[in-house]
Amino acid sequence: HAKALGRNNYQFFTAAMNARVREHLEVENRLRQALSRSELTLHYQPQFDLASGALVGCEALMRWHNPILGQVSPDKFIGVAEDSGLILHLGEWALFESCRQVMDWEHQGLPGLNVAVNVSAVQFRHADLPAQVQAALEQSGLPAERLELELTESVLAENREQVRITLDRLKQLGVRLAMDDFGTGYSSLSYLKHFKLDTLKIDRAFISDLPGCDDHAALAVAIIGMAEALGMTCIAEGIENADQHDFLRWHGCAVGQGFLFSRPLSAPDMAALLERRGEAAPHGAPAAA
Ligand code: C2E
Ligand code: MG
Ligand code: MG
Ligand code: MG
Repeated sequence: HAKALGRNNYQFFTAAMNARVREHLEVENRLRQALSRSELTLHYQPQFDLASGALVGCEALMRWHNPILGQVSPDKFIGVAEDSGLILHLGEWALFESCRQVMDWEHQGLPGLNVAVNVSAVQFRHADLPAQVQAALEQSGLPAERLELELTESVLAENREQVRITLDRLKQLGVRLAMDDFGTGYSSLSYLKHFKLDTLKIDRAFISDLPGCDDHAALAVAIIGMAEALGMTCIAEGIENADQHDFLRWHGCAVGQGFLFSRPLSAPDMAALLERRGEAAPHGAPAAA
């Protein structure tokens, strides 16, 4: 009986695995043509100065709509893009497109924004990232200090010498470097000190149950203090309610983004937001977008 059960489990397991492999392959095949078929777009999530309420920048986030698969979430397709190497093309596109878009808004007379772009570890390792960044800045005319590259801890966990060289070249260009999803990786502290990044983004996992959860409250406060001690700008991501907002502002977190203020917006919706807010950013709590 046990044997039969074991075999059934095994069959069930392999069937599930096959289904997963097939799904992965289907996503990969469709993703291969997504760029040339203009199925990819960038959405932009506004970031606010928590003390003044000023709109200070945005994070560019990839969106994929396929006619067959429908809307596919980045959590599903970014991993596939990394495994297949497609992320090299997608990431390069996202970099150029976000710089272009921000300057396009500015040429329309809308306020100038900072923009943050996510960079995959694969892109960091294989692409000539500094050359791409330099080209994107030159082509768009975006001043380097207004571009921030969001890296994850896995990027820095690799060959230290190689990472050092790439980071130094990026810094020489004048772009800002952020540590994304801080607190979810490992050995974070030594990396922060060693690589002297500009910005620390507290992962949503620590924000979601603030201020009620004592552990996460203590951690959030510690991370904010550490960022300050290291001269880094602290950004909280995933702020969904006023209690979280108040807590973070009270404890001196510099910048925030989250559904409380705005979901990631399509380019036209972001332009409309910029138009509404005008040149002078109003003070006080950020207005819901
Ligand atoms: P991330 O870089 O940490 O981006 C923040 C994610 O949190 C985004 O998910 C955003 O929509 C979501 N978010 C923002 N505010 C809230 C909130 O208040 N509540 C909740 N529940 N979520 C919030 P998204 O757009 O689905 O992207 C997921 C991840 O996919 C990103 O995490 C990033 O790691 C990756 N990704 C997205 N676009 C790109 C890209 O262009 N390149 C690369 N390499 N990765 C990307
Ligand atoms: Mg990010
Ligand atoms: Mg993040
Ligand atoms: Mg994330």
